[in-house]
Amino acid sequence: MELKELKKEVKKLAFNSGAKLFGVGSRERLKDAPPSGDMDYCLPGAQSCIIWAYPNSIEALENYFSKKERMSIKIHQDIGYATGWKTALQVAEFIENYTEYKAHPVIPNGKYRGGVESIRKNGEAFPDFSLRYGAVAAGLGHLGWSGNLVTKEYGGSVYLDGVLTTAPLDPDPMAKENNCNNCKICQKVCTTGYVAKEEPEERQPTIIGGVKQTYGKRGSYMKCGIGCAGWTGLSLDETWSTWTVDHTCLKKVPDDELNRGYFGNLLKTLLRSKETPRVIRKFNNRIAASFANVGKTENVGLRPIEDTNPRCGNCNFICVADPKKRTELYNMLKTSGKMYLDEKGQEYIKKIDENGKEIVYSPPTWEEYSSNQ
Ligand code: SF4
Ligand code: SF4
Repeated sequence: MELKELKKEVKKLAFNSGAKLFGVGSRERLKDAPPSGDMDYCLPGAQSCIIWAYPNSIEALENYFSKKERMSIKIHQDIGYATGWKTALQVAEFIENYTEYKAHPVIPNGKYRGGVESIRKNGEAFPDFSLRYGAVAAGLGHLGWSGNLVTKEYGGSVYLDGVLTTAPLDPDPMAKENNCNNCKICQKVCTTGYVAKEEPEERQPTIIGGVKQTYGKRGSYMKCGIGCAGWTGLSLDETWSTWTVDHTCLKKVPDDELNRGYFGNLLKTLLRSKETPRVIRKFNNRIAASFANVGKTENVGLRPIEDTNPRCGNCNFICVADPKKRTELYNMLKTSGKMYLDEKGQEYIKKIDENGKEIVYSPPTWEEYSSNQ
């Protein structure tokens, strides 16, 4: 099969799975990227990275940020990870079956150089291959302040998947503009302070296709680990939470306190201490079990939908392409209230409506939501 035909066929496979963006990047463009841009680590001699993206729908995002329901985003996330992974396997198999080239499906998340242990040991972790770097090299966009890929069509509210191959495919042109407008809404919606407000990350230059990618300085990886998992999350002004029951604002905890074993103590309290009500401990332990399963498989693409429970992801989800819509979503979040659990473990929301009246309701569970589809 000719290379042109091969590219056309793999693009078809990606689009048939529901992807909306597709591109191919070259080895040459990744030569000055940080180590996670080195394709040889996964596939010696790789020449191209094939990357595609699945966006979140605006309706799902509105429901998520207003706390109407989070199940539509759960479905999108499952598509981004599980469908994306299955598609990567198909694409890699197609390349190896129909050409003499080798291919390597990239695990969408959960696989780190040095294993998950490296998070505990070094306070940070790097993927075998960075799909974000690959996506920049494939012309899908550039890195925004959040550190996520920002595309022209869907902003940063996308899930990335990909395959590396030794086939020297024709690369797509790099994205002309960086569509991050530095609104910093990604920083405002993060309750943990993982990404700095003003200071750029300077530890190692991220140069892809000759273009320097600038993004905010990162704090301890554990901040995002705890916030994104949904063990805790409260806004600075304490008026809204993420989709979680522990309402601690990590942005308020000074760095030196964090360095003195803060995270370990917080998790001990949330998971094991009798100070934490039983029903909340159970909720926290379910999150821990689902993370442990991903830790075991080292592949979030294998996670069942029942265990896919988006509770933060705010920095990435909110970054839709239209800046006005982004602000609207932020305003929805600011008036979305806080999540709690009743004695049976059912999630409920308490918020103040536009007339200043307190309202309390239970968003649909997965069983309720899926039986209505
Ligand atoms: S939310 Fe704004 S600042 Fe953050 S990555 Fe998106 S466009 Fe850039
Ligand atoms: S996923 Fe949530 S906790 Fe993690 S950096 Fe983004 S907003 Fe912050």
